[in-house]
Amino acid sequence: MLNRNGIYLIIALLAVFAGLHIGFAPEGHDGRTTMTTLLGGFAFLLMTVAIVLSTRLRAAEALFGGLDRMYQVHKYCGVIAGLLVLLHFLGVPKALPAGVSELEMSLVPSAPMGMVALILLVISLALTLNRKIPYHRWRLPHKAMGLVYLLVVGHFLLAPPIFFERFGPSGILLICTAVIGILSYLYSIAGKNRRLALEYTIESVNALERATEIVLKPVGDNLQHKSGQFAFVEVQGKGWDEPHPFTISSAPGEDRLRFTMKVLGDWTRKVREELKAGATVHVHGPYGRFDMASAGRKQIWLAGGIGLTPFLSAVREMKPGDGREIHLVYAARNSDDAIFLDELDKRAAELGNVTLVPLFSDEGNFARVDIMKTKLPDPLDSYDYFLCGPRPMVNALMKNLKAEGVGRTRIHTEAFEFR
Ligand SMILES: Cc1cc2nc3c(=O)[nH]c(=O)nc-3n(C[C@H](O)[C@H](O)[C@H](O)COP(=O)(O)OP(=O)(O)OC[C@H]3O[C@@H](n4cnc5c(N)ncnc54)[C@H](O)[C@@H]3O)c2cc1C
Repeated sequence: MLNRNGIYLIIALLAVFAGLHIGFAPEGHDGRTTMTTLLGGFAFLLMTVAIVLSTRLRAAEALFGGLDRMYQVHKYCGVIAGLLVLLHFLGVPKALPAGVSELEMSLVPSAPMGMVALILLVISLALTLNRKIPYHRWRLPHKAMGLVYLLVVGHFLLAPPIFFERFGPSGILLICTAVIGILSYLYSIAGKNRRLALEYTIESVNALERATEIVLKPVGDNLQHKSGQFAFVEVQGKGWDEPHPFTISSAPGEDRLRFTMKVLGDWTRKVREELKAGATVHVHGPYGRFDMASAGRKQIWLAGGIGLTPFLSAVREMKPGDGREIHLVYAARNSDDAIFLDELDKRAAELGNVTLVPLFSDEGNFARVDIMKTKLPDPLDSYDYFLCGPRPMVNALMKNLKAEGVGRTRIHTEAFEFR
């Protein structure tokens, strides 16, 4: 669910820093020095926010409206910090103030530390933003970005007072955030950011059209989740590498946990081809706030392909007499690609309040606002929207719905990617 409180908090942090930094600027500092160190400070605070967000703390999830959104903010903070660091570097006065010894300054490691941090940051950001790098290769260099952070801490702690007053009010704020940032980094690399791991055994692996359903039997406690939430699935055994996020497609309260995985890359192919009943799996979670239960009475659930999974869980959970009017728009290439179509049809007939609207692109029906208009009984702005599917589809729909007068707070989206 959209929640901007986290963003407002970040803006407030930057504003407090700016107030302290400009308001208490030392007398000897000229305007250029104050402004460039302000940019450096902003960059450092945004890096700290990015690191804190990677702890996946539940409280932060509430402030940002879900873990997927936290990771988006994490990414934007990193990118904006990179740009600010560049501006900081370009803006810092290159000539020393009169009376300051060049030799003395050359012995202070702050500038070289800053330079190394800048180079590493630019390389790390280029790697991070390169979507062609597979996730398992991308993860380690990405985690190593914490070392850049430590260099930046060294850079400002050792900065000569002619450039930055580390024990001035804004310096103390940076030192406090540095402590939080370093603790958060250690917390994440120690793997503490993974929520409760429960053990399961694979009961069955079911091949579907270009997707696989895995059914998990709990060894001990079963995960307590709400429909729309997701979890990280970590197969135990050699060669399975890191945990992968998937929406839980079973209904809350079922005695088995089910995930439906589109075959997309190495890991999901391995699930389909090599995972066997009896294998052990750890499930970390639940995460996410794609909460259909807390919205208005009239809702459109729009699923693009595998984006069906949160709605599948919700439809499986729903009881007759639910009171809501739901139109489940299911966009797929054709009826073969639309997995679970028969089950959805059956559930819609049992429930009475769910209308299934299949849109098959092979028949010229796309998940577009103009096509949806012709399929829905009421004006578009009378519904709450839940969109889950490929990012270009979700972004285009969101833009067009807003153009049709649907308020942003009534459009809820789930991104199936963190990067
Ligand atoms: C919140 C969320 C819910 C999701 N729910 C579903 C679902 O219900 N069904 C489904 O089929 N897919 C879902 N996905 C997508 C699923 O996680 C990826 O398709 C899967 O991890 C791909 O792995 P791969 O190695 O086979 O493919 P790759 O080709 O390596 O990766 C494809 C995409 O998945 C991302 N990815 C790969 N590995 C990871 C990882 N360990 N952690 C995070 N991202 C990774 C990559 O960055 C890339 O964008 C969800 C993703 C998120 C973030």
